Amino acid sequence: MNVVFSILIGALLTQISTLCTSAYLHRGLAHKAVSFNGSIVFFLRLFLWLTTGVRAREWAAVHRKHHAFTDTDNDPHSPAQIGWLRVQFTNFWLYKRAANDPRTVERWGKDLAPDRFDKLLFDKGWLGLLTTAGILCGCLGLWLGLLAFGFHVVSYVMLSGAVNAVGHTFGSRPSDNSATNLHWLAAVTSGEGYHNNHHDAPTSAQFGRRWFDLDAAWWLIKVTEKLGISDVRKVGSQK
Ligand SMILES: [Zn+2]
Ligand SMILES: [Zn+2]
Repeated sequence: MNVVFSILIGALLTQISTLCTSAYLHRGLAHKAVSFNGSIVFFLRLFLWLTTGVRAREWAAVHRKHHAFTDTDNDPHSPAQIGWLRVQFTNFWLYKRAANDPRTVERWGKDLAPDRFDKLLFDKGWLGLLTTAGILCGCLGLWLGLLAFGFHVVSYVMLSGAVNAVGHTFGSRPSDNSATNLHWLAAVTSGEGYHNNHHDAPTSAQFGRRWFDLDAAWWLIKVTEKLGISDVRKVGSQK
């Protein structure tokens, strides 16, 4: 039972961090389809630091490069170039290689200079992850805490890999681009699985297009918009 509970905690962390990645890092920061108020942005950054250790400007820069060179030689993670299995299982290293190349942020993240919070805390990704591991071990005990943490980290990395690998290989292509739409992938990635729609209209804050599409990050954006703490800039196929 305790093992199941720990895995559920890990899965919950993954789902919330995937939601924040999609709504804030992807739709907000990389594509500027939505902007969030400063107060909520701090908590999004804090949560992403604690659960992913990702540097926001590097994530946005690598992703913008992916859009600029989709499925060509210069795409940081193209299944058309190196095969979907390789992207699925080595996405973490493919990402790191692009993120660690200073030219990536220089070229694609010019507008995202680090602020004092980045310099003080958020750029130290390992510290955020260690803090979360420590909190989980403190609450659940050493082994169950490590299980929850390990489950979360592996799930988050695998789901990110699936969007780049599966989401450019299997599924439907209603619009003319190399990405695909998959309901099941969208269901576990807060809407990222509507990747064909996204490549068709990268600056749209909404990825799902039909009423039954499972686009959780879009639902979060709509709620925050209603609460007056976000501003949706673009929806639909305006480019
Ligand atoms: Zn893509
Ligand atoms: Zn994108």
